[in-house]
Amino acid sequence: MPQPKLIILDRDGVINHDSPDFIKSPEEWIPIPGSLEAIARLNQANYRVVIASNQSGIARQLFDITTLNAIHAKMHRLALQVGADIDAVFFCPHAAADNCDCRKPKPGMFAEISKRYQVSLKGVPTVGDSLRDLQSGFIGGCVPYLVRTGKGEKTEATGGLPPGTLTFPDLAATVQHILKNPAQ
Ligand SMILES: [Mg+2]
Ligand SMILES: [Zn+2]
Repeated sequence: MPQPKLIILDRDGVINHDSPDFIKSPEEWIPIPGSLEAIARLNQANYRVVIASNQSGIARQLFDITTLNAIHAKMHRLALQVGADIDAVFFCPHAAADNCDCRKPKPGMFAEISKRYQVSLKGVPTVGDSLRDLQSGFIGGCVPYLVRTGKGEKTEATGGLPPGTLTFPDLAATVQHILKNPAQ
């Protein structure tokens, strides 16, 4: 059995529809069509799928950890229904003012993932809809992919993306590209 490969995904705007008012309840967590199926295809190709997500709504007291767990329980349940497995969810609960090391664009969550899986992030694909998603992965050597879902169109228009960033309509199209081009 070959060593599983790793891919790191942002959550809001990549896997599920984002909201300017935050995703504060399981009811508000709605998958983007095709995203969970794309994760299943990654699993079939021997990828471990890990999420790295800023969740400052916790610091802002818009929702608590129990609710975040319930949101993720829904995500895992819907994923399972299409044969998709999300291996782990890393999240930063802090606000920008907390000046933590984990809030993207800081590289802390990516470093934590690298440590947990005992792998270098060099060449590991990371998918996000915001500049800070791609920046924090790029620092550790990840290959950045921007999706146009969520805040992605705005991010693409603003520019200043890490060198080598590839842009696709959504996660499904990104995964299709990654699986066709396995050698990074
Ligand atoms: Mg996002
Ligand atoms: Zn943090």
